[in-house]
Amino acid sequence: MATVSIWWLRRDLRLTENPALQGALENGQIMLPVFILDPALLRRPAPNRQGFLMAGLRALDADLRARGSRLILREGNPLAELRRLLQETGAAAIYAAEDYSPYARRRDDAIAGELPLFLTIGSIVHPPSAVQKADGSPYTIFTPFSKAWKSLPLARFATESIPQSFPTVPAFESLLIPPGEAPHGFPAGEAEARRRLAEFLAGPIFDTAQNRNRMDLPGTSALSPYFRFGMLSPREAAQAAIAAAQQAPDEAARTGAGIWLNELIWRDFYISILYFFPNVLKEAFKPSLRAIPWRSAPKELHAWQTGRTGYPVVDAAMRQLVQSGWMHNRARMITASFLVKNLLLNWQDGERWFMRHLIDGDPAANNGGWQWTAGVGTDAAPYFRIFNPVLQSVRFDPDGVYIRRWVPELALVPTQWIHTPWLMPAELQSEFHCRIGQDYPAPMIELSASKERTLAAYRTSKAAADVL
Ligand code: FAD
Repeated sequence: MATVSIWWLRRDLRLTENPALQGALENGQIMLPVFILDPALLRRPAPNRQGFLMAGLRALDADLRARGSRLILREGNPLAELRRLLQETGAAAIYAAEDYSPYARRRDDAIAGELPLFLTIGSIVHPPSAVQKADGSPYTIFTPFSKAWKSLPLARFATESIPQSFPTVPAFESLLIPPGEAPHGFPAGEAEARRRLAEFLAGPIFDTAQNRNRMDLPGTSALSPYFRFGMLSPREAAQAAIAAAQQAPDEAARTGAGIWLNELIWRDFYISILYFFPNVLKEAFKPSLRAIPWRSAPKELHAWQTGRTGYPVVDAAMRQLVQSGWMHNRARMITASFLVKNLLLNWQDGERWFMRHLIDGDPAANNGGWQWTAGVGTDAAPYFRIFNPVLQSVRFDPDGVYIRRWVPELALVPTQWIHTPWLMPAELQSEFHCRIGQDYPAPMIELSASKERTLAAYRTSKAAADVL
């Protein structure tokens, strides 16, 4: 009888550099690629991410069919479904890429207690257990983490090692992949991820130092949704970034490639933080900042969510999020800072809104980004550092190209006024079809007063912590 193994895909939807797939291929004459739609995960509303996932499953199924295999899709509790699959198929082993989030770890522990589940390295360059201090405790500050990370050898692998044909999958029950489209501008699948990486490596990576903060330029890789679902191996990307730094034509280009590698290290860092400190999903990392007296202001939260704050760069970014499912990193920092430090609304409300809309929404990176911006996290920006959205806008969208792209009410406003349209004289407001308070909102808050209010609230939490 032929041996059967299951390749259980979760967030590693690719054939290249995939240790779980390799394990299943090496240990089964028949290899069954299986994806289980887990209602516990799909219940949370996240249409952009779910559309991207469904399109990604279709792309993967097509890649498998081109090699004589196909995807088996099931729906239900993963333990129950895998139990049933083992009975139906006689499979002796299940191979899966480790997922480091708290929900996934609980799920996998329960399954491994009952079924032959073998976990390989997940969607990370160096797993959390590999990057620890000499005494075995986790790093909680990025710079020493990154030094330890860089000192580890990067396993070499061959990207051309995908077999051209896979074992045929016998006729087992499989659901149809549910409908759902990838959001505009982000075609799902491994081929697109590889195309983007190649394009980025061919030039933009070398300009990272100058361009990565510019919201009006395509200066970053826009690969985050692909990393999120493992359509691209972060190990392959890290290897490519190191090679790019080595081959860089000059010092500036080398710095650019090094900065991009650092972004991948940030990704590993936040995965590691969530792994060792799962409580961050519920509370601030810093105990002294767990008692900030947040305001409750549903109308203000709504104005922020819908891009109607009266601050053009904030509104552009929030509309980009809702309309496209993605947002530039600088824009994420500006909007998060505005919610927390100008409106004094709880960073967790922002974290939830981002998770609902982001295609790349990821509990580790999103939580890390929010805690960092709110100043309550590991390496956080000091709590008294408060972004000024107008200065940020002038600096990182100098001609207002990003603003005009997402806020059509401001399309005709000259660059001189684009960052502060409320300062435009009334006759110009009429001339450029942007009457403040009618066509576009007046600023919802005064920046310097709101800053003082925030500093006082943070001090209250710190003082309460000192008393304890
Ligand atoms: P590039 O600059 O090309 O970077 C390459 C890759 O490195 C990214 O694709 C991403 O996987 C990783 N990366 C880059 N910056 C970070 C970072 N600061 N933290 C962790 N990983 C990083 N990133 C997510 O992937 N998912 C999220 O849900 C998420 N939420 C965020 C929320 C806030 C408030 C903030 C400030 C940042 C958040 N980030 C998140 C990090 C970052 O904004 C995005 O990863 C980045 O904008 C994606 O664009 P890119 O692929 O062009 O990045």
